[in-house]
Amino acid sequence: MRTLNRSIVLNAIKTFGPIDRACIARRINLSPATVTTITADLILQGLIFEKEPGDSRGGRRPILLAINPQGAYVVGIKLTETHAIAALTDLEATVLAKRSSELSGSDPESAIELMAQLTNSLLMEANIPSEKLIGVGVGLAGIVDFQEGLFRQSTFLGWRNLPIRDLLREKIKTEVYIDNDVNTLTLAEVWFGCGQDIENFLTITVGRGIGLGIVTNRQFYRGSGGGAGEFGHTVIDPEGFHCECGKRGCLETLVGDPGLLRLARSAFEQGELPVQPCDIGELAQMALDGNQAAIRILQDTGKILGQSIANLINLFNPQRILISGEGVSRGPVFFDALKNSVCSYSLPDLYSDVDLRIEPWGDDVWARGAASLVLRSLFESPVHKIIK
Ligand SMILES: [Zn+2]
Repeated sequence: MRTLNRSIVLNAIKTFGPIDRACIARRINLSPATVTTITADLILQGLIFEKEPGDSRGGRRPILLAINPQGAYVVGIKLTETHAIAALTDLEATVLAKRSSELSGSDPESAIELMAQLTNSLLMEANIPSEKLIGVGVGLAGIVDFQEGLFRQSTFLGWRNLPIRDLLREKIKTEVYIDNDVNTLTLAEVWFGCGQDIENFLTITVGRGIGLGIVTNRQFYRGSGGGAGEFGHTVIDPEGFHCECGKRGCLETLVGDPGLLRLARSAFEQGELPVQPCDIGELAQMALDGNQAAIRILQDTGKILGQSIANLINLFNPQRILISGEGVSRGPVFFDALKNSVCSYSLPDLYSDVDLRIEPWGDDVWARGAASLVLRSLFESPVHKIIK
């Protein structure tokens, strides 16, 4: 009960702060005495602090409480098949330091070792004592059982049912949280980003794969086994290219980075592109420079992804769709085609409800998302009570 009330008070201060003790008590239906005890404890731990007095209609002005961003720190890590990107953040998910490093092998031991090293070097770089670190969050591409701490399936690394949370916790002697990487990004939007003020939204990540995070009534939708959101593996062309999941013609075989680069290679072989682009940024630049083949590739694939997003709009009727991921670098040629296609293929009434946003991208966004896993555990009450 004590832990529960502590999370509820912290969340109220995060959501409504700076706020005085009497208002907290009214907002969350706790007695003023309980709020006073809990806030005294939180001040002692350095997680909140007293700000300048607030307005008062007559009488003494009440003292306001606010979250102390530097009260504790967390590390977020995104693990890919080739490297790990890590960021150290404060309690407001502001990135204070970041690092990335290549994996020395594809075995779990190398990955655990690398994540422990990155955590330690970030703490040293930012001069943060290890007792101020309240946890490490890890975002993983694949199917993750976040409650059991199991990486159930990684198509990129070939791991199955790996207890990665406990292995890392053992190594670094700090609380560890793991989740699917798209889920961590979505979580960061719920708690610190464009999802704070809305009930129903989707996060779509575009890059090597295509991911989906689903939030309905401010609750994260995971499905029965934690695998919901495998949007990239919805089949578009049953006779199409082989996918890493073992099927054929999945959405991501057509509109994931390797799909676009395959089209670019074939255009180059036909003499339609001056050079074979080695990454998506180069292809996007060729389109901006007016190369017709590059424009065609980005428009055609943008249209296909737009059609699939229109299907999601018809299924979920979201208030907002946030498009994120490295693939944001595909630029306006791709995203204009995508937006036109979303408009053409979704039901007009549902389309008019959606605010479709292309999010700015940086290499620390994944790691910040992973850090939000830990921050959520601090602010969210154990019964997932959402304070309105
Ligand atoms: Zn697939």
